[in-house]
Amino acid sequence: MKLAKFPRLRITHGPTPLEPMHRLTAALGGPNLWIKRDDCTGLATGGNKTRKLEYLVADAVQHGADTLITQGATQSNHARQTAAIAAKMGMECHIILEDRTGYRYADYQHSGNVFLDHLYGAHVSEVPGNTPMDKAMEDLAAQLRAKGRKTYIIPGGGSNALGALGYVTAALELADQAMNMGLNIDELVHATGSAGTQAGLVVGMEGARTQIPVLGIGVRAPRQPQEDKVFMLAQQTAELLGVPGSVAREKVVANCDHIGAGYGIPTPGMMEAVTMLARLEGILLDPVYSGKGMAGLIDLVRTGHYRKGQNIVFLHTGGAVGLYGYMHAFEGHMAP
Ligand SMILES: *Cc1c(COP(=O)(O)O)cnc(C)c1O
Repeated sequence: MKLAKFPRLRITHGPTPLEPMHRLTAALGGPNLWIKRDDCTGLATGGNKTRKLEYLVADAVQHGADTLITQGATQSNHARQTAAIAAKMGMECHIILEDRTGYRYADYQHSGNVFLDHLYGAHVSEVPGNTPMDKAMEDLAAQLRAKGRKTYIIPGGGSNALGALGYVTAALELADQAMNMGLNIDELVHATGSAGTQAGLVVGMEGARTQIPVLGIGVRAPRQPQEDKVFMLAQQTAELLGVPGSVAREKVVANCDHIGAGYGIPTPGMMEAVTMLARLEGILLDPVYSGKGMAGLIDLVRTGHYRKGQNIVFLHTGGAVGLYGYMHAFEGHMAP
């Protein structure tokens, strides 16, 4: 793998910690549960997009860009982290937010990530659900170029092959950490959406020559299209790294049984997972991704999918800022 030849900004506070979750493990009575703290990547309260943006924004700088454009859902963690990195780099940032939920709650529309987008000085515009977002970004880029800006478009979630390199790096980091701790990891579980995280992880695990299986818990698309999306991006990522064909199709596995009514719509499992992690481990998950991802893991443990003594690592991809956009959902569910 030719990872080192790609320009990269060094922003992530890493290696992010790999920690045991003793109280959650005891409460569920199954395998040993661990957590890889990518909610602690440092930038803008942390999260998985920081690792992708290290490669994407380095590329933007190399192309002479002075303006970043990206898109996401209203409470997008990716948008927030992009706004922060733009501020740090002295670049202008334009964010297009898609209304995927139809929520009119004041906290959803103005607090959490939206508040921080504005605080970081981004130019924020809002469009209805099902807007063709790539075209919206292209149109905006054309307008800004006409005004003399040098634009660079970052895809939703930072998920192209270049962005996925951030999670190739993360897989190597985790494999190294596990080896140094003498920890044998039986599975790595995380929330999967725009696919860059899982694509990078599966490519990275091949590169690290480890047999750690990766399981993505879907938050938006059904299983088949989600796996197809991850596999396609994994192939592109492997190609970019000069190791085409290195990822077998069967290494890409998603479980999409915990989406509920749709992207960004709370589920009872998510509410339980967020509350359990807060009260057993003092860890904040998020309502859109890591909460549903953890709900998936809890369900797998309860239904006997793992054996006692196995070591299962949950990759915490961040997003707790989004809790402030969902206070309405937790109201009435906060009794001790
Ligand atoms: C974006 C995001 C994910 C999903 O990562 P993808 O690379 O888009 O699949 C998971 N968790 C959080 C908190 C996120 O913001």
